[in-house]
Amino acid sequence: MLFNQLGLAAPLLRALEEKGYSTPSPIQQQAIPPILAGNDVLGAAQTGTGKTAGFSLPLLQRLSGGRKPAANCVRALILTPTRELAAQVQENVRDYSRHLPLKSTVVFGGVGINPQMMALRGGMDVLVATPGRLLDLYQQNAVKFHQLEILVLDEADRMLDMGFIHDIKRILKLLPQQRQTLLFSATFSPTVTALAESITQSPVHIST
Ligand code: AMP
Repeated sequence: MLFNQLGLAAPLLRALEEKGYSTPSPIQQQAIPPILAGNDVLGAAQTGTGKTAGFSLPLLQRLSGGRKPAANCVRALILTPTRELAAQVQENVRDYSRHLPLKSTVVFGGVGINPQMMALRGGMDVLVATPGRLLDLYQQNAVKFHQLEILVLDEADRMLDMGFIHDIKRILKLLPQQRQTLLFSATFSPTVTALAESITQSPVHIST
């Protein structure tokens, strides 16, 4: 199995080639086709399995045909539990989107909010965020969600373990109902499963 058998467009295949990746990992083989087709996906995957590319590549392809975001609007939101993971995910997104006309950025707490507010002014195709800082930015009117097309919850179990459930529920209330939702988690406890079921529609289940 090669990346070019999964329906990915040339600009993404070129970025993968430049990264030196030729063979999709099992989670990528399972995740890419249903996400490209517009399905919601629930993925059981640990870090190190290649899940970031598994959701980022099809997400970028789905955004690539569409309209540019209006001021302060975000088209795809990727929520992660920690700054480190947020930064890593955005680095991946930036690498994979290098041949596409899409903008991405990352926001997290513990650093100044002003540069993040400035970055969001022109709108963002992909925003990678930790939940608390995202809510701060929303309260400052720096980010708007009415153009949101895709939501990703990455490492959902860790987000719940870290006590982000209330922040996540607040964020979910701000998002359009009609969207594509992807949730990845190493484990599916009853709490994660309940969250997953409440935010997705007829999801495709995948696991490694
Ligand atoms: P992740 O599980 O998304 O954190 O990815 C784990 C590591 O594998 C990262 O360093 C990726 O850059 C790398 N990686 C992801 N997909 C592939 C692939 N198909 N071939 C080789 N390396 C990959």
